[in-house]
Amino acid sequence: MKNYNIAVVPGDGIGNEIVPEGYRVLEAVAKKHNFNITSKTFDWGAGYYLKNEQFLPEDGLETLKEFDAIYFGSVGLPAVDDTLPAKDYTFKVRTSFDQYVNYRPVRTYAGVQRPLRTEKHIDFVIVRENTEGEFVQMGGQYLPDEANGMGLDTSIFTRKGIERVAHYAFKLARKRRNKVTHITKSNTLINSLSYWDRVIKEVATQYPDVVHDQMYIDNSTASFVLKPEVFDVVLTTNLFGDILSDLGGAIMGSLGLGGSGNINPEKDFPSMFEPIHGSAPDIAGQNIANPYGQIWSAAIMLEHLDEFEAANNIMEAIDKSTLEGALTKDLGGNASTSDVADAVIKNL
Ligand code: ATP
Ligand code: MG
Repeated sequence: MKNYNIAVVPGDGIGNEIVPEGYRVLEAVAKKHNFNITSKTFDWGAGYYLKNEQFLPEDGLETLKEFDAIYFGSVGLPAVDDTLPAKDYTFKVRTSFDQYVNYRPVRTYAGVQRPLRTEKHIDFVIVRENTEGEFVQMGGQYLPDEANGMGLDTSIFTRKGIERVAHYAFKLARKRRNKVTHITKSNTLINSLSYWDRVIKEVATQYPDVVHDQMYIDNSTASFVLKPEVFDVVLTTNLFGDILSDLGGAIMGSLGLGGSGNINPEKDFPSMFEPIHGSAPDIAGQNIANPYGQIWSAAIMLEHLDEFEAANNIMEAIDKSTLEGALTKDLGGNASTSDVADAVIKNL
């Protein structure tokens, strides 16, 4: 029997509640589809930082390397300054393991009331560049005196970095509805993002069968709300992808619904799967957090491991469960975190 060895990193806040529930779904679906899951759990994150002054131990990345995938919750606690750069767990794993694709699907759930007027089914994927761009954390604060201070962040876009994520997006479109919309703001960020545009257009010529169009970030936020059904694959930069995926979460009905993958497509390193939201300390410890995004992340992980039937099974069970009314507080229901996981497992 096939076995997948998974590193489980719940992180902080609601991660400690939704990750175990997601893992329960994973074990149940493995049983049904005749493969085996083994795992080891690591207590890394902001809580770990408070005791050890680092988010993960010195040999943490070496340890993670041995696993087939990482099933992650979220890192962050109010007591830990979230501008601590380079120390951050997520940043370290994404960059060290060359997880250059952030795969963030947006779709409507059958039983969830959504905030948009459109009745049309929404189903697109945000492909966010995940290792460079605006998030390289290079720059500095120069404060000779209070009156003349200056803060500077540098964005870095490389041909290699743009090409590889673009190829991923166009190949993904071929498996979907054959359309890539790439989103920038090259009319004002005239150096970095016009370079991005140029390289993307070159890559697009290698995929003549895929419809390729371009939008600016400001206009695209309006389109997300007014006509989200036009999107199939949305290809965008690190910063814009971060913003657009929260908007994507909102148009589904709650931030708690979104799942994602930080993917190294070549499989040279393990990929990491996590919900799009943060650790939500404001609702932690009450068994009310919405686990659907965490459960969906398990399905995305199974797709990455080529267990497509099991992944589909989870998505169908999610739809059935929402239709039956297994809805947490953020979705207008009164189901607990574990009630939702129970419903999904029953519906597998
Ligand atoms: P990060 O910087 O890690 O993205 P954040 O500061 O953006 O974190 P979140 O932790 O994502 O913040 O929380 C934003 C809001 O959404 C909070 O009010 C939180 O309670 C709510 N929220 C986030 N995830 C969930 C969830 N799974 N279920 C219910 N509510 C959630
Ligand atoms: Mg956030």
